[in-house]
Amino acid sequence: MPKRYLLLDRDGTLIVEQDNLHDPDGVVIIPGAVEALRRFVDAGWGLAVVTNQSGVARKIFTLEQMHSVNERVQNLLEEQGIKIEKFYACVHAPEISECTCRKPKPGLVQQAVSDLGLEPNASMMVGDKGSDIGLGKNVGAVTVLVRTGYGQKEQHRSDLDPDYIVDSVADLCPTMADSRI
Ligand SMILES: [Mg+2]
Ligand SMILES: [Zn+2]
Repeated sequence: MPKRYLLLDRDGTLIVEQDNLHDPDGVVIIPGAVEALRRFVDAGWGLAVVTNQSGVARKIFTLEQMHSVNERVQNLLEEQGIKIEKFYACVHAPEISECTCRKPKPGLVQQAVSDLGLEPNASMMVGDKGSDIGLGKNVGAVTVLVRTGYGQKEQHRSDLDPDYIVDSVADLCPTMADSRI
């Protein structure tokens, strides 16, 4: 069996988008996310978060604050029996050309491939922005745009062409990737 992962964007996808969120008390999980994630876990999938956090490089918040938000996300999910295996973050500024990990660049997923052994073309990338869809396409994953966060706007971009557009993470189902196996 291939190692399938649900690769989740954080802000606007797994949790409610708030500009440069860095207060763990501000974390709100998107309604229905836990049940959706459980469908993937039950089907043998792993869960990982891939997130752009350039606010660190831009000194809007610290690395520690970013980690504390991730920890809060993890704790809220764990209370309901769901565990994210790993959080991957690009903390570089958009203009840093040496960065190989800011979505849609493939670095975060390549890191996950070496850490977790996940198979990108058996996996699914879900997010609310074009950069999430671009990342998914760059690594050969099934791509899903959610209409939460920036997705409401991004869904009208004709250049994105995700495999699916859904209202929110709550609508995700592992069978959406069946055509790949
Ligand atoms: Mg997002
Ligand atoms: Zn980076």
